Amino acid sequence: MSPVKLSVVIPCYNEEACLDELCSRVTKASTEVVGDSYEIVLVNDGSRDGSWAMMQALAAKDDKLVAINLSRNHGHQLALTAGLDLCSGERILIIDADLQDPPELLPAMMAEMDRLQADVVYAVRRARAGETAFKRSSAKLFYRSLSKLADIEIPVDTGDFRLMSRRALDALLSLPEQARFIRGMVAWIGFRQVPIVYDRAERHAGRTNYPLSKMVRLALDAVTGFSTAPLRFASHIGMWLVAASILLIIYIAVGWLSGSAIQGWTSLMLVVVVLGAVQMFVLGMIGEYLGRLYIESKRRPLYIVSEIAGRSAGDGRLGH
Ligand code: UDP
Ligand code: MG
Repeated sequence: MSPVKLSVVIPCYNEEACLDELCSRVTKASTEVVGDSYEIVLVNDGSRDGSWAMMQALAAKDDKLVAINLSRNHGHQLALTAGLDLCSGERILIIDADLQDPPELLPAMMAEMDRLQADVVYAVRRARAGETAFKRSSAKLFYRSLSKLADIEIPVDTGDFRLMSRRALDALLSLPEQARFIRGMVAWIGFRQVPIVYDRAERHAGRTNYPLSKMVRLALDAVTGFSTAPLRFASHIGMWLVAASILLIIYIAVGWLSGSAIQGWTSLMLVVVVLGAVQMFVLGMIGEYLGRLYIESKRRPLYIVSEIAGRSAGDGRLGH
């Protein structure tokens, strides 16, 4: 079986209200660019609603559609990895299930890839409709601090919505890490990567599956995965504290020698509290790296598939 020209990979968690509209819009956009040589790979990331039943029904009706059911909720980045591992297209589109990323951008992305001979066309968010001021400002701050910290250039205001060539995807899939920050990993592989600007729409239905806790985790994965600056920062704090403590020791010694060393509960408390806080902070930071090292060292599989529904469930790379 020859591989299809395009795979559209979509991680889904509690997206039953979006699936119908999603599939029809993705189908329309894909047909427009590659005729019938495409596949849509839906990954059910342990949804608690009727998403999986709906995916099965959709896959039964449409032979372009393949649905993968993960054994539980593995998280957005791992669900996406599962879909990417199992898709077979020559080009791969990654898109969210909630239609915040418009499938209608696909023809423009394809054209851009051809025109510039690029391996990756990543979509940069110009406006973000329907998202809270907190989400928008925290995202903005996050992308900017990350690009300061990271050792490689990670494009700002860019999610996972992107079109990739097969060789770029194969390079991405050769990175084995557990803590996956895919938009950073794609930047890391290199090749020619070009932006395309779009306006991010509101969610079609349902609500965000990225509460603050998941956002913080993704941010920590991003920073620890792409920068050791926090560790350097820790040793810099340490050096400054050593310098400060030498001055303090001299001051204390002078006070003791001149016999005037009594008062000073306030300053003592200040030193104890500040030092304690700094130490805990630095330890926590080291712990973030250490914890990830521990998780990586277990070398567990990234995800577990429980079943696959749809035409390709035995063809090509699917089903292995
Ligand atoms: N998602 C997932 N697993 C999760 C959380 C989210 O597969 O544990 C999917 C979700 O269905 C959507 C994409 O990841 O397709 C982005 O999630 P969401 O739209 O909730 O995030 P936001 O756009 O609000 O940042
Ligand atoms: Mg969304």
